[in-house]
Amino acid sequence: MDMKPVIVVHGGAWAIPDNLAESSKLGVRDAATCGFSILVNGGSSLQAVEAAVQILEDNIAFDAGHGAVLNADGEVELDAIIMDGKNLAVGAVSCIKNIANPIMFARTIMEQTPHVMLTGSGANKFAEKMNIEKVPTEELVTENAIKEWEQYQRYKQSVTSLFNTERMHDTVGAVAIDSMGNISCATSTGGITNKMVGRVGDSPIIGSGAYADNFTGAVSTTGHGESIMKVTLARQVLFNMEKGESPQCAAEHALEYMKNKVHGRGGLIVVSKSGEWAASFTTKRMAWACAENKILSYGLNPGENFQEKINM
Ligand code: ASP
Repeated sequence: MDMKPVIVVHGGAWAIPDNLAESSKLGVRDAATCGFSILVNGGSSLQAVEAAVQILEDNIAFDAGHGAVLNADGEVELDAIIMDGKNLAVGAVSCIKNIANPIMFARTIMEQTPHVMLTGSGANKFAEKMNIEKVPTEELVTENAIKEWEQYQRYKQSVTSLFNTERMHDTVGAVAIDSMGNISCATSTGGITNKMVGRVGDSPIIGSGAYADNFTGAVSTTGHGESIMKVTLARQVLFNMEKGESPQCAAEHALEYMKNKVHGRGGLIVVSKSGEWAASFTTKRMAWACAENKILSYGLNPGENFQEKINM
């Protein structure tokens, strides 16, 4: 098979504050460009989504890896998932600490264990066994994350009441199709500020935070995790496509459904088995970028679609 490779990435939904707008746009463009160069050089979609998400985890503009938000105890607990649409192999981690690139670890779980997800201290124990590098919490925590956390503490605001503020920055994800027609997805997050200790959101949950199946396509989501889980948002998009909807319609309908059914907002990226793609959101903003045919498209505000040539 000789498919046209495509990668789409997101840097999270919600109201990305103006002071993070430029770095968010730059971050998703870098990640999409890197993933695309892997694809055009014959790499697999799995390699491309892992590399793109790793770049976003290393970028402090985003709530994943470095830059992750803090839980109620002021600690970092990370969630991630990676899925291979060729054989529905999947690896996920939840509530892990002191690991800078949870997506790499999720892939290790997918490839080196008979399980789908490891959590908490057991996951950290397995990371040690697999020689996954451990980093001190302080290395992952940014000034922004501390400021945001202090604000919650000061005003004792609930997680939901602050969900639409200017301060939120967010989860990262990627979906891709390679020249062999194989489709993959990856999502990684620090969750939501001031979450209860031990809270796990949608991101590492198969069918909610992500899903990939060569038969239809791949999705990575972001937004209010409790709502996303209730409607299994990622799988919902693919169900819509299996009924004949385009990726754009399928995405819009699934997000609309979540809004009507559970009053939840969010965003998502999707790629289909024929390389059609969409980036859609019902929040104020979502940083996204797509690379295909040596063209990089990207946006942050509703309706935005900037384009530039990829020099490679
Ligand atoms: N969905 C993530 C969570 O609820 C956060 C986000 O994407 O904003 O953990």
